[in-house]
Amino acid sequence: MPRWHKFSRRSRQCFEKGLVGQAPWPAADAPVGLRGGRRPHMSSNEKEHFDVVICGAGPTGLACGIELKRRNVSAVLIDKGCVVNSLYNYPTNMVFFTTPELLEIGDIPMTSLNDKPVRTEALKYYRRVADHYKLDIRQYQHVSHVSGNDGAFITHATDINGCPHEYASKKVIFSTGYYDVPNMLNVPGETLPKVIHYYKEAHPYYNQDVLVVGAKNSAAIGALELLWAGARVTMVHRGPGIHKNVKYWIKPNIENRIKNGEIRAFFNSNVVLIDELRAIISTPEGEIVLKNDFVFAMTGYRPDLTFLEAHGIRLDPETQRPYTNPETLESDSKGIYLAGVLVAGMHTNEIFIENGRFHGKIIAEAISAL
Ligand SMILES: Cc1cc2nc3c(=O)[nH]c(=O)nc-3n(C[C@H](O)[C@H](O)[C@H](O)COP(=O)(O)OP(=O)(O)OC[C@H]3O[C@@H](n4cnc5c(N)ncnc54)[C@H](O)[C@@H]3O)c2cc1C
Repeated sequence: MPRWHKFSRRSRQCFEKGLVGQAPWPAADAPVGLRGGRRPHMSSNEKEHFDVVICGAGPTGLACGIELKRRNVSAVLIDKGCVVNSLYNYPTNMVFFTTPELLEIGDIPMTSLNDKPVRTEALKYYRRVADHYKLDIRQYQHVSHVSGNDGAFITHATDINGCPHEYASKKVIFSTGYYDVPNMLNVPGETLPKVIHYYKEAHPYYNQDVLVVGAKNSAAIGALELLWAGARVTMVHRGPGIHKNVKYWIKPNIENRIKNGEIRAFFNSNVVLIDELRAIISTPEGEIVLKNDFVFAMTGYRPDLTFLEAHGIRLDPETQRPYTNPETLESDSKGIYLAGVLVAGMHTNEIFIENGRFHGKIIAEAISAL
C-alpha cells in the first residue's frame, strides 16, 4: 500500500501540482508518473543540496552570497519576501542617511541622483547586484526552522502557497535583520488596528488626528510628512526632546514646526492608554486625553530573538546580543553563522548596511578555509 497517506495533504498537493520539486514520500512509494517531480535534477525524495543556506536576502544576505560565490562555495538565499524585503517595506519616500558608496556590495558601484540615495534607487541597485552575481535567491519562502547539526543541516521553509521546501546544507547563515519585530508600547489598546508600527505614506491620514510616538528619525520624518499631508499631528516621547542623531536636515525642521505650534509635542511623557477615539498620555503636568484616529508607534524594532534561541544560540542577558566568535561570526550553535544587524542584539543602532555589509566576507573566508 502506498505510504503517502502518512504525509500531509498539503505537501502531496504541492508536489502533484509541481509547486515543489521534492515528494513528501520515499521514492519507491511515489505514484507512477510523479516520480522525480518537475525538477529534473532531483529524484522524488531528494532535497536540494548546498554548501551554505543563507536565511534572509537583505543587503547582508546578498553580501554573504556574493562572497561565498567568489570562493566557489555553493549557496542559496531564502527570503520570506522579495529581495531586500525590509528596504522595500521602508517608507515610500525615504532618503538614506548614508552616501551611496557606503551601501555598495560586491564592488558594484552605486550612484544616486542626489548626495543621498532614495529607496527606489537602492531597490534598483540591489536587484542589479543580485542579477550581476547570478545569486540563487528563493523569494517568498519563510524559513520556519533549521534542523540537524553542523555539516548536515536541513532548512525548512514554506512558500506563499503554503507548500513546504527543504534545503540540505553543511552550514547556515542567519541574516534575518530586525524589521519584523517592532518594540511594543505595552499599553492597553495597542492591538487596535489604528495603531501602526510601520509608516509608509502620509496621504491616508489627511484630516485625521494622529499621535506619533518616538523622537528619532522615523518619528520625526513621519510627523513632518503627516503634517504636510494635512493631518493634525501630536508627538509624544519619553525623552527630553527630538533625538540628537536625527538627520541634520530634518532636526531643525521638526523643531521649528513644534516651536511654531504646527505640531504639538509632549516630551518626558508616555502613552498610557489607547482606545477607539482617544489616546491618553502621562506628562509632567499630569494625564492628558487626546482625540485620536491613528497612532504611529515609531519605537524601533528588534531582531527575532526567539528564533535565535530556538536554534540554541545564547544571548547576552544585558544586551541580548547573540554570542558569536568575532573572527568568524559563527554563533555558539556550531555551523550557524550570524550576519547583519541581528548581531547587535538590542543595540540595533550599531550595525547598519554601512558596516553589516562586511560580515559576508568574514563569514565566507571562515567557511571556505574549513
Ligand atoms: C527607515 C530606515 C532607514 C534606514 N536607513 C539606513 C541608511 O541610510 N543607511 C544604513 O546603512 N542603514 C540604514 N538603515 C538600517 C538598515 O536598513 C539595516 O541595518 C539593514 O537593512 C540591515 O540589513 P540586514 O541584511 O541585516 O537585514 P534586512 O535588510 O532587514 O534583511 C533581512 C531579510 O531577512 C528576511 N527574513 C526575515 N526573517 C525571515 C525568515 N524567517 N525567513 C526568510 N526570510 C526572512 C527579511 O524579509 C529581509 O529581507 C535604515 C533602517 C530603517 C528602518
